[in-house]
Amino acid sequence: MPNWAIHLIVPLLALLIVRKKEDWKYILLLLPLAVVSDLDSFVTQHRALLHNIFIPVILLILAWRLQEYKTIFVISAIYFASHIVMDMFGGGVVLFYPFYDGMAFVDASLRINDMKDLVWTFDYGFNEYDAGWKTALGYITDSPGTGAMLFVLFAGIWAAYTRLRENK
Ligand SMILES: [Zn+2]
Repeated sequence: MPNWAIHLIVPLLALLIVRKKEDWKYILLLLPLAVVSDLDSFVTQHRALLHNIFIPVILLILAWRLQEYKTIFVISAIYFASHIVMDMFGGGVVLFYPFYDGMAFVDASLRINDMKDLVWTFDYGFNEYDAGWKTALGYITDSPGTGAMLFVLFAGIWAAYTRLRENK
């Protein structure tokens, strides 16, 4: 399942690639929203309350209704949606909570098996939302996740440093 490093880095880079120049402050300030979904572990059951399609949809409706805050709501919706999509590829989410408690999942992987064959798996649908998921806790980071985060962090420090030197 995706760790927080992946949940933070992927939408951050995606938004920085497509952003309008003046939006970068909102992109950085709202970044924590990319991992807020996992707080549902503390409140109710994991991967339901804050892992459903209605959160980004409501944020997009707010963006449409409140034009002055459009940028903020759209960026927030993207952070939530990216978390939900990545978790859907990593086990599943209760996408239509609280109306339907099946776990929507997509299983897509490419790996090399013992026979040295390439094995492509692709499956999707709804799984039962069972006790294992209900009591699971939000995943913070594993070792590859920490490594990935450090790599991006050093790139950021390097970029800031070279920009500072250029401006001297
Ligand atoms: Zn999650």
